[in-house]
Amino acid sequence: MKPAAFDYLRPETTAEALAALAEAGEEARLLAGGQSLMAMLNLRLVQPALLIDIGGLAALGDLRRDGDALLVGASVTQAALEQRAGLADEVPLLALALPWIGHYQTRNRGTVCGSIAHADPSAELPLALAALGGEVMLRSARGRRRLAAADFFAGILTTARRPDEMIEAVRFPCRRPGEGYAFREMARRHGDFALCAVAAVASGRGLRLAVGGVADRPVARDWPLLEGGALADALNDFAWALGGGDDAHASARYRRSLVRKLGHAALEEARRRCG
Ligand SMILES: Cc1cc2nc3c(=O)[nH]c(=O)nc-3n(C[C@H](O)[C@H](O)[C@H](O)COP(=O)(O)OP(=O)(O)OC[C@H]3O[C@@H](n4cnc5c(N)ncnc54)[C@H](O)[C@@H]3O)c2cc1C
Repeated sequence: MKPAAFDYLRPETTAEALAALAEAGEEARLLAGGQSLMAMLNLRLVQPALLIDIGGLAALGDLRRDGDALLVGASVTQAALEQRAGLADEVPLLALALPWIGHYQTRNRGTVCGSIAHADPSAELPLALAALGGEVMLRSARGRRRLAAADFFAGILTTARRPDEMIEAVRFPCRRPGEGYAFREMARRHGDFALCAVAAVASGRGLRLAVGGVADRPVARDWPLLEGGALADALNDFAWALGGGDDAHASARYRRSLVRKLGHAALEEARRRCG
């Protein structure tokens, strides 16, 4: 199928993009890497009157340290982040998660912020942002605001972003001393969306596990340093609390089993990396 007709704007400045977004509101869509939006247009799942192409805006290309976090601007591709020198030391969880996203070709076009904005419950970057307690920096013609990941993701392909806002950047907290990280995923084939993905953070004080692909958004849970049966019970409670259902790809029961197994393996791996 072909997309419905739309107008196309390639603004030269961020202010121009925001003014167009403010004017068109829900009638407009920002176009970043197009790796999700083009498919949705072709299937006519969305039919915007206006596409605002922000892919070429150099002002949105920031990729730098911002205090204790790594700031990633709206036009930074997933491949550019993956290739950042020293990423495995700076934000280890990102270095572990990025290779799981689609294929090199899709990461070469797809942006980090586009994936966060798209908010697919199975996507790796929203999961990493939730696990690390990162932030989303929103900007509109009215001003700026920032939201914690936990307040940003609101459901399947649904976020707290207002129609006139763009994600200007996201902030991923950098490695904290004494923390270990791990990422595990199960998909039918490499490059497919996850049936279940988990991101683990461990320290001498406690454990955190975030799960994607089961609930309608990435969900994180914190525990003290549980071991053995107590950890197994906690993982089982979490698996049931996520409330995933049956679908064409996997049963709810299989997904609960993945949460328990991948979760346990990732937490153990993160623990080993603490020291
Ligand atoms: C074959 C294939 C396999 C894939 N596999 C995976 C996978 O395994 N895991 C995964 O996570 N993803 C996967 N993807 C999706 C890919 O990661 C996309 O790049 C990502 O979901 C969207 O990023 P984008 O820059 O392409 O955004 P676009 O497709 O351009 O936009 C997606 C949505 O976000 C909005 N948007 C984009 N940028 C902004 C912004 N700055 N502010 C506000 N709204 C914005 C758009 O308006 C649109 O609604 C796959 C894609 C393909 C084609």
